[in-house]
Amino acid sequence: MPANLLHIVESTTLDADDIAARTKRIHALLLSKSKYIDKPNFTKIHPTDLALLFAEYDRQFFDGQIKNTLGTIPLHFGLSKRMTSSGGKTVHYIGKKNEKECYEISVSTAILFGCFDGKDHRPISGSGIVCRDRLDALQRIMEHELVHLIEMVVWEKSSCSKPRFHSITRRFFGHTENKHQLITPKEKALVQFGIKPGMVVRFRFDGEEHTGVVNRINKRATVLVEDRRGQRYSDGKHYAKFYVPVQMLEAVE
Ligand SMILES: [Zn+2]
Repeated sequence: MPANLLHIVESTTLDADDIAARTKRIHALLLSKSKYIDKPNFTKIHPTDLALLFAEYDRQFFDGQIKNTLGTIPLHFGLSKRMTSSGGKTVHYIGKKNEKECYEISVSTAILFGCFDGKDHRPISGSGIVCRDRLDALQRIMEHELVHLIEMVVWEKSSCSKPRFHSITRRFFGHTENKHQLITPKEKALVQFGIKPGMVVRFRFDGEEHTGVVNRINKRATVLVEDRRGQRYSDGKHYAKFYVPVQMLEAVE
């Protein structure tokens, strides 16, 4: 039983100045130690940066007890270009058959690099805290995912919509919200280009003009164009699927 980590998690409440000082130290430390993150609005990142960030948070906020409690269970870090609806994700893989049990924290580079690109249409906040730069936003993501990891390790289940999660993120990191508020590609598409799912759009592809319906928006928009040779969808019609950069779409009245 992870008595130490449980004790720390249940008995600690940090004040705002203390939280600011610790997160500032981590911000500076990452800039000095990372081989990839060379400025606050960095343009390169490597999974080892997430490991570095994790280790520092564990040391400065949890007395190294997260790592200690994990013991020999590996914790992996990943970067995802395809994750576009949230900034991070934590998964507990329970060892089945030949697989070994492990935890994995992944961070969305699509969201990270989509924020602080000089084209933000609003101040960016993460977990209710206004972020000053991309590294700051990454720290908010890590703080949120860390609490998911802690809950999984200590209580097996974790949910960021539940009071226990809110209590931990507030007491340790001063979070006042627990939904992501970074700018997603979907929000960007709507604000910058006025494009949203369900809209009829026109675009050129291979010199030909097509008209279709926006099905979803990830990094690019998925547009369905009626086509007899295409796949059959639930409305009984056949569509060909196109992946189109949002800026190339024109809304049809
Ligand atoms: Zn969450």
